[in-house]
Amino acid sequence: PPIPEQRVERLVTATHRAVAAPASLSARGISAWFGDHQVLDDVSLEMPAHQVTALIGPSGCGKSTFLRTLNRMHELIKGASFAGEVLLDGQDLYDPQLRMTEARARVGMVFQKPNPFPAMSIYENVLSGLKMTGKRASLGEKDDLVEEVLTKAGLWSEVSARLREPGGALSGGQQQRLCIARSLAVRPDVLLMDEPCSALDPTSTNRIEETIRELRADVTIVIVTHNMGQAQRVSDQCAFFLATATTPGQIVESGPTTTLFENPADQRTDDYVNGRF
Ligand code: ADP
Ligand code: MG
Repeated sequence: PPIPEQRVERLVTATHRAVAAPASLSARGISAWFGDHQVLDDVSLEMPAHQVTALIGPSGCGKSTFLRTLNRMHELIKGASFAGEVLLDGQDLYDPQLRMTEARARVGMVFQKPNPFPAMSIYENVLSGLKMTGKRASLGEKDDLVEEVLTKAGLWSEVSARLREPGGALSGGQQQRLCIARSLAVRPDVLLMDEPCSALDPTSTNRIEETIRELRADVTIVIVTHNMGQAQRVSDQCAFFLATATTPGQIVESGPTTTLFENPADQRTDDYVNGRF
């Protein structure tokens, strides 16, 4: 007998994609509110595949909020609302047909504070994201997947002999790379990173920056950073966000990173990237 449609859908979701496919992400006319407090006003940004986009700007200008609209986390916040469109390779991320878990699987997120499950083994931490997104890998696939994504996250040589140790036994920088590996295991098209190095020492920061530059081949990256050196080292393009006491967050200027840093069109961009406010 034919397989019921619902079951087919589940089987398709369970099939683990063999390769990641970086997608272009297009945010169009994004406005966002917490209650009646508007924090983003009509923000549009193209984030092309195979590029690293850095979001820069002072605290409170809406960078994290913007990032959360890109993987539907914003709608999970009580009282939060949103207008605009997010397209992932042309597909509407907010299409009611697209399940939340699928959206979350395609657009991964790494946070400022590394958040592995501290008591769970390094191995199981890497695979933990698969369960949350309803994806599965067979036993043989699991070992290969763990090695592959830990290698991509620049952590394999340090942990290959201690995969059964708890995630919490790792240093902060290693924990962050474990979180990157966990995100990669789901094969996202896009990886969002919200100040991923702010809680880390300079050596760990260097390692993560190296990883980001290499990951560009596998995944489209959007990173929020307050570190102007980092924005210049890792990003292809930059968007400078600004809010004032009376205006919600907007993009003042976006474009190639070298342009924003060396030849910005707006005086406020020049002031910000040179540390004048
Ligand atoms: P950034 O990441 O650039 O520092 P955020 O996106 O975190 O900025 O915050 C933008 C604005 O939204 C700020 O005014 C902040 O106080 C407000 N905000 C952020 N999160 C919440 C929330 N959960 N509830 C209410 N207001 C929030
Ligand atoms: Mg923030």
